[in-house]
Amino acid sequence: MSLLVTGSLGLDTIETPSGRVDNVLGGSALYFAYAASFFAPVRLVGVVGEDWPTRLEDVFKGRPVDLTGLETRKGSRSFRWHGSYLKDLNEAESINTDLNVLAEAAPQIPEQFLDSRYVFLANTHPALQQDMLSRLKNVELAVADTMNLWINVEREELLKLLGKIDGLVLNDGEARLLTEQGNMVAAAREVLKMGPTFVVIKKGEHGSLMAWRQRDDSTPTDIQTFVLPGYPTDRIVDPTGAGDSFAAGMMGYLSTQRSLSPSTIKRAMAFGTVVASFTISDFSLDGLKGTTREEIDERYERLKAAMSF
Ligand code: AMP
Repeated sequence: MSLLVTGSLGLDTIETPSGRVDNVLGGSALYFAYAASFFAPVRLVGVVGEDWPTRLEDVFKGRPVDLTGLETRKGSRSFRWHGSYLKDLNEAESINTDLNVLAEAAPQIPEQFLDSRYVFLANTHPALQQDMLSRLKNVELAVADTMNLWINVEREELLKLLGKIDGLVLNDGEARLLTEQGNMVAAAREVLKMGPTFVVIKKGEHGSLMAWRQRDDSTPTDIQTFVLPGYPTDRIVDPTGAGDSFAAGMMGYLSTQRSLSPSTIKRAMAFGTVVASFTISDFSLDGLKGTTREEIDERYERLKAAMSF
């Protein structure tokens, strides 16, 4: 089923205890597209500037990623982000963010993408996320990601977005900031009151919590929850893109399933967990590039075995 992603494509400078890389390929939509392509064909919509250093056709060579929605904008500069994990491997510290082309007009969604049924609104300005969503007419499942920057400076736009999507994926620090709740179950309940029918709160190496409510229950007191540990690994070189890869494994798997029952979403979360474990094993896309669907399935089985008692 058609899976569309829109979000940032950027050049990242990253510092982690394993080292530093400068101006490597990154961006929320880039990680998502690569990671989701292990599960299903992906339609990518994004914009880069004239200074973008590589051909994305080469980056995605051999992968089912349709780049018709990629725009290289003349006279604009690409989005750049400098992040550090030196203080805490579970949470990026933004040293510098140059929005550049992300602060300009949204890219066009190609005509042949307008029927997309599964949509991931990867991290970018929430007004842009809404704009993108409003142009798609057949959406069955819309999931968004966000981050502290938007919670702090574009809260109104973010709240409007939350009223329009099915699911929100965010990390525990962001959930705390958004809801002012320190307890993650309480935070999840508050997010569900803001609109989405499900929320996934990621807790870095400590795994993830999903909470959902009945579609017709907009003031949920009785929410359902599911928790999953992180994939047990000691190879953590660069956590950048873990969240996007988690969402990609989840949405990629969901887009191949007929029903969206809680048990399907639980399996989807396990795939998200596993894909993220490959992303963090190296800098930029290198961890994902070095893996195969077979290896993903193997880790999925290992995670399942590790959890049964
Ligand atoms: P993640 O680690 O999955 O949360 O996402 C990491 C990616 O998000 C990096 O490759 C960055 O380029 C990108 N990113 C960082 N800050 C922003 C922002 N304000 N808007 C959009 N993308 C961002």
